[in-house]
Amino acid sequence: MRIGIVGGGIAGLAAAYELARARSGGVDVEYTLFEGRPQLGGSLASEIVNGAVLERGPDSFLSEKPAAAELCRELGLGGELIPSNDAARKTYIVTRNRLVALPDGLMFLVPTKLAPTALTRLFSLRTKTRMALELLHPPRPSEGDESVAALVERHYGREAVDRLADPLLSGIYGGDSTQLSAQTVLPRLVEMEAKYGSLTRGMLAAHRKMREMAKNSPKTQNRGSAIFTALRGGMQQMVDAIVARLDAVSLRTATPVTGIEKTRQGWRIDAGGVSEDFDALIVAASAWAAADLLAPVDAALASELGAIPYSSSITVNLIYDKSRIGALPEGFGFLVPAVEGRDMLACTFSHRKFVGRTPQGKAVFRAFLGGMRHTELLAESDEALVATVRREMREILGARTIGAAAEPEFAQVTRWSRAMAQYAVGHKARMGRISARLAALPGLRLVGNAYDGIGVPDCIRLGRKAARELVGVEEPAQAPRV
Ligand SMILES: Cc1cc2nc3c(=O)[nH]c(=O)nc-3n(C[C@H](O)[C@H](O)[C@H](O)COP(=O)(O)OP(=O)(O)OC[C@H]3O[C@@H](n4cnc5c(N)ncnc54)[C@H](O)[C@@H]3O)c2cc1C
Repeated sequence: MRIGIVGGGIAGLAAAYELARARSGGVDVEYTLFEGRPQLGGSLASEIVNGAVLERGPDSFLSEKPAAAELCRELGLGGELIPSNDAARKTYIVTRNRLVALPDGLMFLVPTKLAPTALTRLFSLRTKTRMALELLHPPRPSEGDESVAALVERHYGREAVDRLADPLLSGIYGGDSTQLSAQTVLPRLVEMEAKYGSLTRGMLAAHRKMREMAKNSPKTQNRGSAIFTALRGGMQQMVDAIVARLDAVSLRTATPVTGIEKTRQGWRIDAGGVSEDFDALIVAASAWAAADLLAPVDAALASELGAIPYSSSITVNLIYDKSRIGALPEGFGFLVPAVEGRDMLACTFSHRKFVGRTPQGKAVFRAFLGGMRHTELLAESDEALVATVRREMREILGARTIGAAAEPEFAQVTRWSRAMAQYAVGHKARMGRISARLAALPGLRLVGNAYDGIGVPDCIRLGRKAARELVGVEEPAQAPRV
């Protein structure tokens, strides 16, 4: 069986890895992966500069989603996995130019602790009163999808959207809470509303249940509790380790696929001026790229794919010598609500979030700009973007912490154009329509961040699953090494 893979981001690489594994296990399969850019990895890209790990794209993955750590262990990178430094975890929201820590007890946007919520400077008295009264909300069955902003506003008011939902979601999705689907992005909250009415009561009940389970299950008790997991040498380690296990002749970099055609026997790909036939295809390019390629095959499918919105973003990494800056507030960094009217969406103190990736005496800041609301920033020069980040950091952290004269010893700007899919209201229904179209196209699989999870672990899970399905291999209990 010959399988073509379009796109060499982490989803396409995970699919190729799974096929290589099946092949080494005796399955009769060949694969060819086409990647438009000269390098593999898609959004995963890191490098070490002056001894510090700089992540251009994702810096870590959620520990509770096992697919990424599992893959790293299979790749022999288990010893390289490092937890986030949760002891120092504290995140601030910029509120009228000041840093206000997220109150303790916040779970998925839901306040669960009375005293910290009552005492925080993040919310007005009116919002705090509303948060207390939210406990009285009666159960409300879901009436179809709505935006995250609508769900949160109904429970906690507009200020909770502006000061909490919006910055948290734009920090994760580069997205806009008025567009993102509650059903897809926050399905647990939608279920809780239907069952309990109050999200706070629902979250407290879920928390009690988890504690019970942890008490009764030694396995859960021993599970590491760090929220994020990273690789000591950066996400690039994962990309390099996968590539090392793939057959070099199967990898076509700098070879964009320009056409896909359904043939009588299977599929034809045009790339690099050549047409090649395959029995099956895994399209791991962004949904908008897949839409262009699949339009001649199935216009209705292409139109659904093309309608999935994407956001663009920019990361700016700055390395400072600590002697050049003042004391930073404790914690991992800050998020900037849109109502603050700034270009920055978030800033991570990377040297704090993961210990051991930055040399002593250095500080690494990773600023995130752009998102759905500020696509125009992509056109700005590197110098202008670095100047914006330095100015906004100075205004937010104070000139005593980062003065105008404090020059970073290194600055790196990366633009990610239309890289992050947005699960807009109606995403679940759209996915149903996409699945129905795919059912009539045997041998075609779509994987990547546009479908069933935006993060690295979800992309890996989907890539591997598609590969296994095509070659008819069951998920093994313990995967053999390739
Ligand atoms: C700045 C940023 C920060 C992030 N932070 C995190 C984080 O901390 N944790 C986390 O879990 N996730 C994070 N994410 C999300 C996560 O990194 C992505 O969702 C994931 O890496 C997407 O992988 P993918 O393979 O689906 O797509 P991509 O990485 O976009 O790969 C798609 C590939 O397809 C190629 N391609 C497109 N068209 C063609 C064609 N016609 N022919 C051949 N190749 C083609 C592209 O060149 C690209 O390499 C972040 C994303 C960004 C952009």
